[in-house]
Amino acid sequence: MSHFDAIVIGGGLAGLAACVLLEEQNLSACLIEARGDLGGRVRSFTDPDGGFAGDAGPSWVWPGYQPTVARWLKRLDLPIFEQYTQGSGLLDYGPQREVEARMLPHQAGSYRLEGGTARLVAAMADQLSRTQVILNTPVTSSAVDGNGVTVTTSDSTHDAPRVLVAMPPRLAARLRWTPALPAALKQDLTSVPTWMASQAKVVLRYDRPFWRDKGLSGRVLSQAGPCGEIHDLCDPGSKQGILFGFLNWPVEMRQLRADALKHAVLDQLTRCFGPKAEAVRGLEIFDWAQEPFTTDALDLEGPFRHPDPPPRRLQNVQCDGRVMFACAECSSQSPGLIDGALDAAEQAVARLLAHRL
Ligand SMILES: Cc1cc2nc3c(=O)[nH]c(=O)nc-3n(C[C@H](O)[C@H](O)[C@H](O)COP(=O)(O)OP(=O)(O)OC[C@H]3O[C@@H](n4cnc5c(N)ncnc54)[C@H](O)[C@@H]3O)c2cc1C
Repeated sequence: MSHFDAIVIGGGLAGLAACVLLEEQNLSACLIEARGDLGGRVRSFTDPDGGFAGDAGPSWVWPGYQPTVARWLKRLDLPIFEQYTQGSGLLDYGPQREVEARMLPHQAGSYRLEGGTARLVAAMADQLSRTQVILNTPVTSSAVDGNGVTVTTSDSTHDAPRVLVAMPPRLAARLRWTPALPAALKQDLTSVPTWMASQAKVVLRYDRPFWRDKGLSGRVLSQAGPCGEIHDLCDPGSKQGILFGFLNWPVEMRQLRADALKHAVLDQLTRCFGPKAEAVRGLEIFDWAQEPFTTDALDLEGPFRHPDPPPRRLQNVQCDGRVMFACAECSSQSPGLIDGALDAAEQAVARLLAHRL
């Protein structure tokens, strides 16, 4: 048994931000994370030299429209740059028809972090000095009574007056709760899809961004796939060329035909950008549908649209003031987004601490 002012379940951006905010109030937290590293849906690949080699999770922030993300970027002193969109985009109709160069709808306001989105995770983790971080430890149950909350994992038990549940709501609903969560609350948690949970990204690395030489932005919209969209993902700190695509093959097909998928991606890239696209230095696919600490079975059923603002109940303090849900999907400001994760953490910490026990 160990005692903290709060337990935070989930070490994604929301959980990390919550710990930073709790420390700011001189409170101690125990952060319990199921995976072997922090960041959750934020994940970057590194090249053999340890440099940035693409984001497997989020790539963009929109600080002009997202005040919370803008504030955290400033607070953490993280440099950003505008998404590269110079030149023509391409429309790809598949092997039967020539690709068409076009000016595509602009992406004004889309920014990226220098060195990749994972820098946000590293910068937040650096701010923690009092938080005890426990990795590789999925929480299985949570019991609430008049004395506080007891959170249990496969091999440990942790006590605190309050718990902040910073994991996707559908996964939170599947924890063993004692007493059982009220039916309406469980239904609300289950109703909230996890943004991008069923998606997969492919990241391709080249010696240099050769498409830029031909006046191409690197952006492709495709009806044929396997990448429904492709974007330039180069980092200002490196000379190498990086592209990423959102894969539009169905989940089962991605698994059953993994090798064929890689070939199909290279065929598509060559169709769009010419033979230089074959000289790929690295091709990585990250499939979020296979990630049990992100994706619930319900997330694979669709619909696959951007989350609506969450049910209001999820923004209230639960279980006599001892439990607060705080994941990006719990934010009404930017549900499902990085900005939402930070906003959810801010709201959750403020409401939890305002509630007198
Ligand atoms: C492919 C992709 C592209 C995206 N693109 C963008 C983008 O461009 N811009 C943008 O703003 N957003 C984007 N997003 C969304 C963004 O990644 C999320 O909004 C944000 O990372 C969510 O952070 P979070 O902390 O709320 O949740 P998560 O990152 O999901 O963190 C939850 C944490 O809880 C942990 N956990 C789960 N179960 C347990 C358990 N039982 N016990 C302990 N820990 C547990 C998980 O391992 C995880 O670390 C994208 C997401 C993906 C997957």
